[in-house]
Amino acid sequence: MILTVFMRKPPLAGKGVDVTFLGTGDAFASCGRFQSAYFIEADGCKILMEAGPTVLCAMKRMEIKPADVDIILISHLHGDHFGGLPLLILEYLWESPRRTSMVIAGPRHLEERTWLLFRTMFPFSRGDIDRVKRQLKFVVLEPDSDQRIGKARVRAIRVPHMKRFHSLALRVEIGGRTIAFTGDSGWTDALVPFIAGADLFMCECTYFESTELDFHLNYPLIARKRDELDVGRMILTHIGREVMEHDGEVKMEMAKDGMKLHV
Ligand SMILES: [Zn+2]
Ligand SMILES: [Zn+2]
Repeated sequence: MILTVFMRKPPLAGKGVDVTFLGTGDAFASCGRFQSAYFIEADGCKILMEAGPTVLCAMKRMEIKPADVDIILISHLHGDHFGGLPLLILEYLWESPRRTSMVIAGPRHLEERTWLLFRTMFPFSRGDIDRVKRQLKFVVLEPDSDQRIGKARVRAIRVPHMKRFHSLALRVEIGGRTIAFTGDSGWTDALVPFIAGADLFMCECTYFESTELDFHLNYPLIARKRDELDVGRMILTHIGREVMEHDGEVKMEMAKDGMKLHV
């Protein structure tokens, strides 16, 4: 007798998560792509993951109101990932005053670097900065941390990218779904268990030919590792020039600016 075993995943709870890819380019805005930013909406909670310098423009094009964001998550302190925060602060000062507070969570030193950048970009800015400061609650995401932020559960591990500062991969659970993101990272085996079971895995893919670099991922390496990754939908992002020059050879789903999906 032949026994057939049906491996059936239990039905997912919750109404799912809407993800808008606001910026899918690298630091060089290769091929005109906006720099890192993703908008995640679930269970009445709005999360901005990453805030590259182009974030405000991207949000307004997609008709996402900056004052509606509840949580900002930042993976690391490179300008293409957090350089848009001063522009958001300026927006909250003048154009879109917030009625509620907001959490900005990221690696150590995010708070001081953000205000340093703001003061550099907008010295002597008038307006009620104290009001905005009171509304922005900075939270440190330590490596191997697991914490609840609003309706989201956020986990982080340190990944190989920056030497002196922490660079984090992020795992966000909200609305009955799990979204995992490499941040900027070279390959580390620690990613495999960290992202396991994610419904959506957003994987940086900066290079194609420069396979010797150990602080970013390249497509040939990702393609070799794909079978080890236990994830639902996987999308390449943080796309660099080399990847676009070889886009005919990329056999995996690539993000585009303005792309929306439901997980
Ligand atoms: Zn980057
Ligand atoms: Zn980086």
